[in-house]
Amino acid sequence: MIVVMRRKAKPENIEAVVGRVKELGFRAHLSAGEECTIIGIIGDERHLNESVFRTMDGVERVVRVLKPFKLASRDFHPHDTIVAINGLSIGAKRIIIMAGPCAVESREQIMETALAVKEAGAHILRGGAFKPRSSPYSFQGLGYKGLELLAEVREETGLAIVTEAMAPEQVATVGECADIIQIGARNMQNYNLLHAVGELGKPVLLKRGMMCTMEELLMSAEYILSHGNYRLVLCERGIRTFETYTRNTLDISAVPVLKQLTHLPVIVDPSHAAGDWQWVTPLSMGAVAAGADGLLIEVHPHPDKALSDGTQSLRPERFAQLVAKVRQVALAVGREV
Ligand code: PEP
Ligand code: MN
Repeated sequence: MIVVMRRKAKPENIEAVVGRVKELGFRAHLSAGEECTIIGIIGDERHLNESVFRTMDGVERVVRVLKPFKLASRDFHPHDTIVAINGLSIGAKRIIIMAGPCAVESREQIMETALAVKEAGAHILRGGAFKPRSSPYSFQGLGYKGLELLAEVREETGLAIVTEAMAPEQVATVGECADIIQIGARNMQNYNLLHAVGELGKPVLLKRGMMCTMEELLMSAEYILSHGNYRLVLCERGIRTFETYTRNTLDISAVPVLKQLTHLPVIVDPSHAAGDWQWVTPLSMGAVAAGADGLLIEVHPHPDKALSDGTQSLRPERFAQLVAKVRQVALAVGREV
């Protein structure tokens, strides 16, 4: 349930509603917009009667949100959320490009890639220190050593960093070096992990599980939001279908559908969807045309030597061409890179 306050509601009217919500055993989340404040009532509200709030001073209307996700829904927060990171705004006019290797492999590799993607126009450096691999025999990432290398590169290049945390106990340390903590597709429904990043409050990039619906993605987002962290960006990275020419199928429809259902920024990772570098540029162009707020692209200076996801990684020159093409599409749809 949400309580929409009148434009001229006084602070004490808002406090009174919040107080009543708490008295009844619920939690109140405030969304203070330019026109009015909306109070989200969180808890099992099936037996809660709207009339409790309808007659209170300053209340314009009380609406039952029928969708199972509340804080993530546009009903609660009608305007786009903008996540500010290091002077960048994700969810605003500029398309934010995050690029870098699948995994941090060495100081030379991550530094070389960082300088190349920065030169080509990327805004944020990606690179996993903790890698969720399908096989226990595959390269698992450099772990904490990888985080140290990312911190060094951040210091030297000024690029913001997005990197993954796989377990709740890693969250605090990952959060010290990362500007955005990535929750990978395989961990989208790891609720303890969602709780941990919700509590930490650092920006989060939540990737859609390859076998999860948009509603499940939004319910996972709800876990993070309900722990008080609104600095959240969603990422479509391809889902499993019967098609085998691509690694996964990029669900381009997720972009406009999510943008309508939620106020949160939505970015697209065409690299993991395609599984092959050849499809990454056209899929990026499609994503931006469909309304994506950013891209997450795998780039490696020597894809043939990459320890993970080399086949889908772009060489830096090809990444620079991708940025140029995406820029044209962005301009055509009233955005910029
Ligand atoms: C990644 O970003 O390198 C990654 C492992 O992605 P996903 O979780 O989407 O598979
Ligand atoms: Mn990868």
